[in-house]
Amino acid sequence: MSEEIKVQLTTQPGEKPDSTNLSFGKFFTDHMFIMDYHKDKGWYDPRIVPYAPIAMDPAAMVFHYGQAVFEGMKAYLTESGKVLLFRPDQNMKRLNRSNERLGIPEVDGEFVIHAIQTLIEVDKSWIPTEKGTSLYVRPFIIATEPCLGVRSSYTYQLIVILSPVGAYYSSGLEPVKINVESSYTRAVRGGIGFAKAAGNYAASIKAQENAKKEGYSQVLWLDAIEKKYIEEVGSMNIFFKIGGTVITPAINGSILEGVTRSSVITLLQEWGVPVEERKLSIEEIYEAYTNGKLEEVFGTGTAAVISPVGELHWNEHTMEINDGKIGEVSQKLYDTITGLQSGHLPDTRNWTLTF
Ligand SMILES: *Cc1c(COP(=O)(O)O)cnc(C)c1O
Repeated sequence: MSEEIKVQLTTQPGEKPDSTNLSFGKFFTDHMFIMDYHKDKGWYDPRIVPYAPIAMDPAAMVFHYGQAVFEGMKAYLTESGKVLLFRPDQNMKRLNRSNERLGIPEVDGEFVIHAIQTLIEVDKSWIPTEKGTSLYVRPFIIATEPCLGVRSSYTYQLIVILSPVGAYYSSGLEPVKINVESSYTRAVRGGIGFAKAAGNYAASIKAQENAKKEGYSQVLWLDAIEKKYIEEVGSMNIFFKIGGTVITPAINGSILEGVTRSSVITLLQEWGVPVEERKLSIEEIYEAYTNGKLEEVFGTGTAAVISPVGELHWNEHTMEINDGKIGEVSQKLYDTITGLQSGHLPDTRNWTLTF
């Protein structure tokens, strides 16, 4: 796709939020990117317009049958005024895997990255620079055709919005408490768990709310069939350091394949830390815990980057991990990944896109 992106600038720029108090996903920049799709035309009319509500037909298929996928990545501003994006090509590949599963047409990943770059340039003054802050980029695609028949929509919109964000958890890099969910299921092999689809979150909210009420910040999902094998946490993949080896569940069709997860695996391999992707049961975790071998647990995802787990609750068992403190490997991974993302560490792996 090489169509030129039309830019319509706002006449009413918004007020920038206090960058010491951003939290996550509460503020939005002045502009957004929109592109339309029609089955006879393909993707067309890419444009940057003032951020505003979008008018939708109440019969738009996304409201009824849920064809909606999204992505998430972070942009940083370096001291020399350059913008950095972390592995956006990986997000585009995953977007197209999500599209494929939900019957949504493929996008030209390179063009969407170009559109994201153009949008960020327009709203560059919104990128916060306070430590721990960044500009979160949220591309998403929705089915827009007004039709109540069940089939894939003939029309879609791809929209990109930007949000200046602080730390994902208000407590910062504090270890979180997580509840192992034993009754509800997020996703099952053959379903849409591997896709970054809005519906996966709809399936997870009830358990998440219950866990919140009990004082946990997230739930750890087990496999849908045996309720035995570890899958992932809310919006993060999960890693366990057991007796010196770092283990994460293998990609199996129901787990979301995180860009942070894959970066963590690469870094650990480079550092010579043994790392395994395999099936991992909750019993194995509990046994490692009782033998004093469960050394670190951490979640990985764009929003929180690395989120140390200080306490894991499974049925009547409470496992306190590393005295509720962040572990050495978790800290090193956090420092390295945020260092690469923000340009404080040299990019020797060609992971960042600079503009
Ligand atoms: C986005 C997401 C992740 C993390 O993926 P990253 O690419 O590392 O941000 C993990 N699990 C779920 C369910 C997600 O939606």
